[in-house]
Amino acid sequence: MNDARREELAAGLAETESRIRDACRAAGRDRSEITLIAVTKTYPASDVRLLAGLGVTDVGENRDQEAAAKAAECAGLGLTWHFIGQLQTNKVRSVVAYADLVHSVDRPRLVDALSREAVKAGREIGCLIQVSLDTAPPDSGGVAERGGVVPAAVPDLATAIARADNLRLRGVMAVAPLGEEPGPAFARLARTARAVQEEHPGADVISAGMSGDLDEAIANGATHLRVGTALLGRRKPFVR
Ligand SMILES: *Cc1c(COP(=O)(O)O)cnc(C)c1O
Repeated sequence: MNDARREELAAGLAETESRIRDACRAAGRDRSEITLIAVTKTYPASDVRLLAGLGVTDVGENRDQEAAAKAAECAGLGLTWHFIGQLQTNKVRSVVAYADLVHSVDRPRLVDALSREAVKAGREIGCLIQVSLDTAPPDSGGVAERGGVVPAAVPDLATAIARADNLRLRGVMAVAPLGEEPGPAFARLARTARAVQEEHPGADVISAGMSGDLDEAIANGATHLRVGTALLGRRKPFVR
């Protein structure tokens, strides 16, 4: 059972690695510039363990309850944990205990909560600003359909993170908008990332690209890919 699953995961990983290498070659980039995050949501801790055995170093989760249990079960594997889902302030204490990076920072209140809990926990948390790539964003400057802040709101949020105790601004994250070519959207993200990096030179992470669009993400400067389906298989529909 475990052996069969290991084979499946090894095949998914080999296929994904080959796509990454091809995309890097096409873009004139080096594979070492890219971090592959295995998005293990809905899959058990045993899969995380198998992936770690196959050389995966980074895992991503989007729901605190599930992630906290899995991270506890997988303590000692030396993995880097990425929280990639929408984050409510009442979950921040829990997330700060296991997450190394939070990809979904999208409002000042969340920055305050993350900083406060990171200080209490004595941890440093890497933060990515989630940017909305929707072409018709809500003009409120609020959170868009697929999450994230409009690019115009990014500089203030970046400053807030950079000033906050125990938080480190690492860069930006986005999900390609629905019903649009991912390439141009990721190009807009790259521009936002460059603007952030001009003010904050250490913020060099661009988290973009999932199973369906990792090639376009690599072509547009992504440094971190969040890949679930291509590694682990199609997820069962999530029932709340
Ligand atoms: C689930 C998820 C992914 C992975 O998506 P796949 O299409 O399965 O690769 C990436 N990013 C975020 C924010 C997710 O929630």
